[in-house]
Amino acid sequence: MSLLEKFERYPLTFGPTPIEHLPRLSEALGGSVEIWAKRDDCNSGLAMGGNKLRKLEYIVPDALASGADTLVSIGGVQSNHTRQVAAVAAKIGMKCVVIQEAWVPHHDAVYDRVGNIMLTRLMGADSRLVDDGFDIGIRQSWTDAIEDVERAGGKPYAIPAGASVHKYGALGYIGFAEEVARQEADLGFSFDYVIVCVVTGSTQAGMIVGFAAQDRADRVIGIDASGTLAQTRAQVRHIVDNTAELVGLGRAVREDEIIINPDYAYPAYGVPSEETNAAIRLAARTEAMIVDPVYEGKSMQGLIDLAGKGFFPKGTRVLYAHLGGAPALNGYGYYYRNG
Ligand SMILES: *Cc1c(COP(=O)(O)O)cnc(C)c1O
Repeated sequence: MSLLEKFERYPLTFGPTPIEHLPRLSEALGGSVEIWAKRDDCNSGLAMGGNKLRKLEYIVPDALASGADTLVSIGGVQSNHTRQVAAVAAKIGMKCVVIQEAWVPHHDAVYDRVGNIMLTRLMGADSRLVDDGFDIGIRQSWTDAIEDVERAGGKPYAIPAGASVHKYGALGYIGFAEEVARQEADLGFSFDYVIVCVVTGSTQAGMIVGFAAQDRADRVIGIDASGTLAQTRAQVRHIVDNTAELVGLGRAVREDEIIINPDYAYPAYGVPSEETNAAIRLAARTEAMIVDPVYEGKSMQGLIDLAGKGFFPKGTRVLYAHLGGAPALNGYGYYYRNG
């Protein structure tokens, strides 16, 4: 039985996302573990898709019921999240205000003109650049934008960074865990590990609650890309607790069921290391699977490094959750000018 039965879902995605075997990447990592990917980067026709759409499917019914006319949200300059909020606003016929903070110390000349922010503007969102640094919490600039909309006579609906600390923010990734179980039944085997990038927390938190119901939450290996581990871990804990209660999981999730590896977030949020860039190139050259320098490149780096260290026992199957994010590559063109 699904934990999500009593929750309304507004479809924004194509349905269950494909799971594919990555034989050339598996081989490049030594061939003793099987690497598979679940392609949430290909989940929707809305503005190139991504994990935030899976979350927003459970938030949109609440936004519509509230009578709001404007979605208000926040992210970095190259935020995938604000792009997906802008896409949803266009699709459901609402206005959209997004605050884009200077989260990333990166200075490509076109950083604020291409990729996610360009698509956001193209879809008609009012995108406002502000000069505040990285923080996954609630921000003054965001509460100011909400008040702005009210003062102008509009009715805002507030969506926090990454759609994470929203009461329904983690439901979509409970759905992911249930979807994986159904796909495993068709495939005839189970995955031993799931690798997932974590920053604002509700993706992994939803997976943890969903896989806790299958008694294997500790097989979800979060790879931190925030560089602020304590805050991210506390946020995941908080979202797990609220969501477990909300859906009636029926038990508390233990600390040892929340696994977050901090080793790959260096040098900073939004800045790829040499090893991140090597991971991006390896995924592209073995599988034509495109990952970005902010999020998925770091979880790919983690997957590669952990496989190399023998973290995954021989013969295990590892499922890499690809959460999207490729549009941000455009903001980092200088790194990849020669491939
Ligand atoms: C937002 C995002 C993440 C992180 O998900 P959280 O729920 O914020 O932890 C990872 N990858 C991509 C591509 C994202 O857009």
